[in-house]
Amino acid sequence: MLIDIHCHCNLYLNLDEIIKEAKDIGVEKIISVGMSALGLERMLEISRQYDSIYPALGIHPEEVQMNKNIENQLDSVLELIRKNKNKICAIGEIGLDHYFVKKRELYPLQQKIFNSMLSLAQELELPVNLHTKGAEQIVFDTLTSFRIPNINIHWYSGPENLLKKGIDRGYYFSITPAFSYSPAVKKVVIMVDNEHLLLESDGPVKYSGKIGTPSMIRDVLNFISKFKDVSPAILESQIFENTKKIFPKIF
Ligand SMILES: [Zn+2]
Repeated sequence: MLIDIHCHCNLYLNLDEIIKEAKDIGVEKIISVGMSALGLERMLEISRQYDSIYPALGIHPEEVQMNKNIENQLDSVLELIRKNKNKICAIGEIGLDHYFVKKRELYPLQQKIFNSMLSLAQELELPVNLHTKGAEQIVFDTLTSFRIPNINIHWYSGPENLLKKGIDRGYYFSITPAFSYSPAVKKVVIMVDNEHLLLESDGPVKYSGKIGTPSMIRDVLNFISKFKDVSPAILESQIFENTKKIFPKIF
């Protein structure tokens, strides 16, 4: 069984088709991660409709430039997550972004939201699904102030010394379909041991012009298997075990 641990299921217009296609190729569980304050209710709704979808709730770091009211909405978002703590498997997608978010004046608010999401994860004893683009050092520094059960770094593309630090700290790293063309993602696959790898589509993000879907993680598995010279079947069961360790609530 394959598990897509980071997908934005609420953003597809043809979710029925996407889920069916994923099941047909052996992707039986999908963690759907939150982004905007507005999308969280919808996320819970689709997880009731599809038994293969497991919600993670959180505020994406780019929300500070998408939603002018996010600071005022923060308390009610935290309340919504607390209220649904038994239905969710993680806090995510959360983190910092200093690459797509260029306005430095937004960084203090982004940090405030990130800190409040991390203390919520600590309080609820939930793992986190992290975005670190262009802010890897600050994210890694911030994490030392919190006790989080398990940490997944999604689509890591930062410097090698921090990748090493994350590996030393026992973080998990999820690999996207960008693996086929991105040297940064290849570096993660080379350096991270098989016991800390996970699979994700980050759909509907596009890869070489094609909309990303959970079914693509079968190819990601096959790529990694060639790269690491381990059979797809062995790697599939290893990654299954890894997923069980970090996200026990989806089992
Ligand atoms: Zn994402």
